[in-house]
Amino acid sequence: MTPIVSLVGRPNVGKSTLFNRLTRSRDAIVADMPGLTRDRHYGMLRMAQRPVIVVDTGGFEPVVDTGIVHQMARQTRQAIAESDLVVFLVDLRTGLSPQDLHIAAELRKTGKPILLAVNKAEGRHGHPALAEFHELGLGEPFSISAAHGDSVPDLLERILKALPTDPSADLPESQEAKSLPDAATDAAAAGAAPRVHSLRLAIAGRPNVGKSTLVNALVGEERVIAFDMPGTTRDAIEVPFERDGRKFTLIDTAGLRRKGKVFEAVEKFSVIKTLQAIEQANVVVLLLDATEGVSDQDAHIASFAVEAGRALVLAANKWDAVDAYGRERLMVAIRQRLPFVGFAKFHSISARTGAGLNGLMKSVIAAHAAAYRKLPTPKLTRAIIEAVAQQQPPRSGPVRPKLRYAHQGGTNPPIIVIHGSALDRVPATYTRYLEGQLREKFDLTGTPLRVEYRSSA
Ligand code: GDP
Ligand code: GDP
Repeated sequence: MTPIVSLVGRPNVGKSTLFNRLTRSRDAIVADMPGLTRDRHYGMLRMAQRPVIVVDTGGFEPVVDTGIVHQMARQTRQAIAESDLVVFLVDLRTGLSPQDLHIAAELRKTGKPILLAVNKAEGRHGHPALAEFHELGLGEPFSISAAHGDSVPDLLERILKALPTDPSADLPESQEAKSLPDAATDAAAAGAAPRVHSLRLAIAGRPNVGKSTLVNALVGEERVIAFDMPGTTRDAIEVPFERDGRKFTLIDTAGLRRKGKVFEAVEKFSVIKTLQAIEQANVVVLLLDATEGVSDQDAHIASFAVEAGRALVLAANKWDAVDAYGRERLMVAIRQRLPFVGFAKFHSISARTGAGLNGLMKSVIAAHAAAYRKLPTPKLTRAIIEAVAQQQPPRSGPVRPKLRYAHQGGTNPPIIVIHGSALDRVPATYTRYLEGQLREKFDLTGTPLRVEYRSSA
């Protein structure tokens, strides 16, 4: 399972500042995608070698302070309960507060590993005021400055060290492929049989959009090959199923549980479990409720899927229950609120009647194929040269970036590494132009793309 780290602390200690620093996207192209939801409180730790989900608990409901008894918001508790590690943030400038003591007491009760970080310590590392935080009984206070970045890499190292180790056997294929792009390419070049990536599907969406209804319609009790909970050590549930002679693995989002013969929605919807499922999958179906429009939570889940690089298909469920006006309104909402998933196919479906499911699954298969498409260097290079011939990258002062050749740096998502000179001057709009050209030439509908630049000289 993808480990979870939550950031906890009273308001204003710097949780969201730290969150932003830890999750800042390393892919300029992702950062530049218009409309990508920024005000979200879940993200991937970008500096780590392996995926880690970070949760800013301050992003939930405001912490209710009833005076004597500090009540942590329910969602904050849920986030902590689902975390593998808590980073407890306090503020050196204001010093230790009674609220800090209450939070510390609550955190200790959870039995979770806790790292105590004293923020706003720029210019004050080793300051005597740090000593008072010993009173929290959480070990040596560790000073950082989220705003300036001081000691944040050290904090990151501590976080990674404190997380449960991830036996590599536990890695989903997508991540293996990501970390071993060269090995995979070499094997293919050496004439080895191309590696077949099983289709690992996550159905994500808010409570009540119809996830269990869809899963039941897709999986159908008789088509479940074997339902067991593999590797009792991990609590993800994977359900292999077959449809039209093709094998799939459904990654349970934990918004679902199998009860007897059918899947049921469990009362407690968990965003975190949804994000973990997205990490473990290679294709995500984002289910929207046509009767409700597009919500913030839909946009958050979509943003996360894009940042995780997953192939994506959008499906508006309950199409049977909306009239022409409602349908038109939904299409407008999707264009306005989810402009960054323009690469994904859209389907209107009814999980209840089964309408549209065949088309949906065709797009799922196509998106998976696109995510793992092999893009040979000569073809990629030709595509780049043709794109440049059609439209040159703009001059930046006296220099014009020069694109020379390209190779594929990974799959799911496809990473296209472009070599040349002055490539740091290529504007985001031009990268998007290239991306569009590549999509068209290589039929990459359904998967995000990453374009990276390597300048020599
Ligand atoms: P949150 O409520 O815990 O999420 O706190 P924020 O991240 O919103 O930060 C609250 C305030 O503290 C903001 O004005 C930040 O700019 C400031 N802040 C955050 N980190 C630091 C830091 O390392 N040093 C200083 N001096 N200020 C910081
Ligand atoms: P989940 O919480 O996302 O798993 O949602 P459920 O599958 O439990 O569905 C929530 C509600 O929406 C239930 O009452 C379903 O019967 C209903 N529902 C699911 N799919 C459809 C559909 O295609 N059309 C209509 N009209 N209702 C649906």
